[in-house]
Amino acid sequence: MTPAVPRSGLRDLEPYQAPQLEVAARLNTNECPYPLPESFRDELAGAVRRLELHRYPDREAQELREALAKHAGHPVEGTWAGNGSNEVIEQLLLAYGGPGRRVVVFRPTYVLHERLAWVTHGDVFASSLDEPWAVSTRDVAQALAAQPSVVFVCSPNNPTGNAQPVEIVEALAAGGDSLVVVDEAYIEFGGQSAAGLVARYPNVAVVRTFSKAFALAGARIGYCLASPEVVDDLRRVRLPYHLSALTQAAGLIALRHKEHALAILDAVRQERDRILVELPALEVRAFPSDANFVLFRPPRPAQETWRGLLDRGVLVRDMASVVRGCLRVTAGTPEEVDRFLSALNEVLR
Ligand SMILES: *Cc1c(COP(=O)(O)O)cnc(C)c1O
Repeated sequence: MTPAVPRSGLRDLEPYQAPQLEVAARLNTNECPYPLPESFRDELAGAVRRLELHRYPDREAQELREALAKHAGHPVEGTWAGNGSNEVIEQLLLAYGGPGRRVVVFRPTYVLHERLAWVTHGDVFASSLDEPWAVSTRDVAQALAAQPSVVFVCSPNNPTGNAQPVEIVEALAAGGDSLVVVDEAYIEFGGQSAAGLVARYPNVAVVRTFSKAFALAGARIGYCLASPEVVDDLRRVRLPYHLSALTQAAGLIALRHKEHALAILDAVRQERDRILVELPALEVRAFPSDANFVLFRPPRPAQETWRGLLDRGVLVRDMASVVRGCLRVTAGTPEEVDRFLSALNEVLR
C-alpha cells in the first residue's frame, strides 16, 4: 500500500481552526452573542417544511439575491451569494487568482485571504503595515507596483479592528486592472463601505457575511456586491447548485427579520467600547476598534494569558502569530464581558 502524495507544501499547512470548547464565555470567533428571535425560527421551520428537497435548488438563488440587492441598495445583476463569505472569497480567487497571478494582502490581516490565495495556486505578495495599521498611499503604490491580479483590503480589519479609508480602496481600483476585494465582514459595526465605488469601478468586489452582525454563523451565508461582469465570472467557477435550498430559505427569512439583528448592534458596540475603556485600567494596551472585537496586548506573554483566561472559563483568540503579543476578544453579552474583565484582572494580578 502506498499513501497518496499531496501537492507540495500542503502538509506544512495546519488546518484552519479556532478551538471550539464548551466554556462559560466563548469570545474567540466574533459571533453575535444573541440568537435571532423565536419568530425567526418559527418562520424558518415553516419554510423548511414546504421545501421540495427532492429537487435541486434555484441555481441562481434569484429570490435571495433580489432580497440582498434590496438590503444593500445594489443592482441584483451585481449581487451574488455563497456559503459564507469565505466561499465567495474562494470563488473570486478561482476566477481572478490562480497560477502565475499575484495576490496582494496587507498584513496583519485575516489569514484566510492568504491561505485561500495559496489553495487556489496564486502567488501571495504581502505588504506589511505598521501600527496603527492604516493602509497609506505609499502602501497602495507599492502594492500596485507588484502588478497584482487581486488585492485584498479588510475593512474593518480583522484582527486589528481599524477600518481602512474608502479612498484607499478607490486608489487601488483606479490604479490598475486588478480585482480589489474588500472584505466587509464587520461593516455593520463601523467604517465606511466601499460598495458605492462599484458603480464607477467595476474592478471592486465587496464581500459581506451573515456570520457576525446577522447572528447566523451556523447557517453559512455570505454575499458579494460587485459589477455584473464579476458576478458572471463567479457563475463560471461556482459548483452547480452551490447554495442549498435550506441556506437560501434561511437567508431570505433572516433578511425579513433584519431589524432584530440590527437592533443588537448598539448593545454589542457598547460592550466593545466598555472593553476599550476597561483594559487600559488593567495596564493592558487595547487598540481602537470599528468592529465587534478588540485586539489587546497584555503585559504578559499572550499564550500564558490565553491559558489563564481559559482556566477561568473565558475563551479568547491568541493572535500572537499575527500581531506580536496580542489577543483578540469578541464583544459578547454584558455578563460575558464582566467575566472576561474579572478573569483578566486575576490573571494579570
Ligand atoms: C468572520 C470573518 C469572515 C466570515 O466568514 P464566513 O465564511 O462568512 O463565516 C470573513 N472575513 C473576515 C475578515 C472575518 O473576520
